[in-house]
Amino acid sequence: MGPIQKESTSIMKKWILWFNLLLLPLTSTLRADVLEEELPVVILGGGVGALTSAIYLARAGIPPVVITGPFVGGTITQSHNVQNWPGESSISGLDLGDKVKSQAELNGAVLNAESVISVDFSKRPFLITTKEAFGSEKKYKAQSVIIALGATPNLLNVPGETGPNGYWSRGVYSCAVCDGSLYKDKVVAIVGGGDGALIEAQYLSNIASKVHILVRGDSFRAIEKERLKEVLSRTNVEVHYKTNIKEIKGDGQKATHLVVQDSSSRRLKDLPVDALFLAIGSFPNTQFFQGQLELDAQGYIVLKKHQQTSIEGIYAVGDVSDPEFKQAVSAAGDAAKAAMQAQKFLAASGTALKAVPVIANEKKSELKKVIEIKSVDQFAGEVKDAKGPIFIDFYSTHCGPCRTFSPLYETWAKEHGGRTKFLKVNADHARELFEQYQIRAVPTLVILDEKGNIVRKSIGSREISEIDKRLEKIKRELTSQDFK
Ligand SMILES: Cc1cc2nc3c(=O)[nH]c(=O)nc-3n(C[C@H](O)[C@H](O)[C@H](O)COP(=O)(O)OP(=O)(O)OC[C@H]3O[C@@H](n4cnc5c(N)ncnc54)[C@H](O)[C@@H]3O)c2cc1C
Repeated sequence: MGPIQKESTSIMKKWILWFNLLLLPLTSTLRADVLEEELPVVILGGGVGALTSAIYLARAGIPPVVITGPFVGGTITQSHNVQNWPGESSISGLDLGDKVKSQAELNGAVLNAESVISVDFSKRPFLITTKEAFGSEKKYKAQSVIIALGATPNLLNVPGETGPNGYWSRGVYSCAVCDGSLYKDKVVAIVGGGDGALIEAQYLSNIASKVHILVRGDSFRAIEKERLKEVLSRTNVEVHYKTNIKEIKGDGQKATHLVVQDSSSRRLKDLPVDALFLAIGSFPNTQFFQGQLELDAQGYIVLKKHQQTSIEGIYAVGDVSDPEFKQAVSAAGDAAKAAMQAQKFLAASGTALKAVPVIANEKKSELKKVIEIKSVDQFAGEVKDAKGPIFIDFYSTHCGPCRTFSPLYETWAKEHGGRTKFLKVNADHARELFEQYQIRAVPTLVILDEKGNIVRKSIGSREISEIDKRLEKIKRELTSQDFK
């Protein structure tokens, strides 16, 4: 095998690992094949809605490609305890998401961890352009599309929230289950007066020493009254009614306090907090469909009949087309209908269906080179023995982007492990290390030299992607100088 072929095979292997399960034959023209591939159905989204449609279609002999976006399992994975999913009296959202994902894969659906960046629905086949999390753009052509992109949390739009000087991911978050574990025994605030705020408060009050709930009005809008009673009875929860956040302030590294205003007296005061969690609703992820599909005034996809959008052959399910109910089970119900509609549409339009070949994962056992750190002592031992750079992936169990990064990290370990160590630290297992390295967001990748000094700290997909690009180029033993 020549060097070019070797390199393309290595890129391809990485790609296969990264996307878990792929539909394409192992040839060096892999990416070109994808560009030309025309599929019966492509599903956009990776939540309960998308995965349920995938199960139905796969079982009907039309295994779809599912463009999962950043969160496989979707929004339900943020819930620590789902009690209204039929057949499960109590299940964590993460387990529920995993179960639905496994069922879709077992039935033959192909899950690709890419994000949609644009669509062209002006004619059939419909064209969908996606981007890999740490890689390049791809295009899919599809005779039918099911859209299940869910909704994104609203922001407060106050100074200090986002932007270069904002504290987003450095004390400001939208998901308590994802990032709450970083704030054990700390003081946190939740803004919002609906059921979402109460769920976040329940979760955080088991972790944080104090939970402030900031409510704009003079009462909660929450529908679940039992939950409201339970939250209000907790001794470490304090509710501030008629309170608006005017600014989020910090020390440059992390958020330290909120400037809040009482809406009656207009008086401003500082509220010291270590973190703020937003629970103020969401907006549908429909920006790609402006001018292509009929949307309502809030941007939700307008449905004609049985999940069909304004274009025949394109269906929408779950939160992206549901301003009203926004439930996992209603998303699943929509999804079953959309899948059956898509089948009927394909049959009526005479689309020839061809089986999608699935390539098995590489044996997971071969990839076990990342060392899971369970204690500070174990970590100290690994650093003491180091003979080269040490990579550390700081992550938390419920963090979607961490789950997206994990297969790539394992690939790095497989390709570059040896003198270089690849460790991972879970926020729930070795919290002291999060403090020691001042980790305020997950995933964060820290690279140490062999003496244990920090060489680099990379937060978020852009910075991690930069490391990936550097690693691609290095064909020799790694040194800490490579990352300075
Ligand atoms: C804290 C919390 C607790 C909840 N508890 C419950 C509960 O107990 N019971 C219940 O029934 N419901 C609950 N819900 C609501 C439920 O989670 C949602 O209604 C449901 O998950 C909606 O499913 P969906 O498939 O429509 O969208 P989502 O689950 O939101 O999935 C959207 C998907 O789209 C993907 N995506 C986004 N952008 C792109 C892009 N550009 N390209 C590709 N993919 C993209 C995401 O990765 C994600 O996979 C809860 C919600 C929250 C926030």
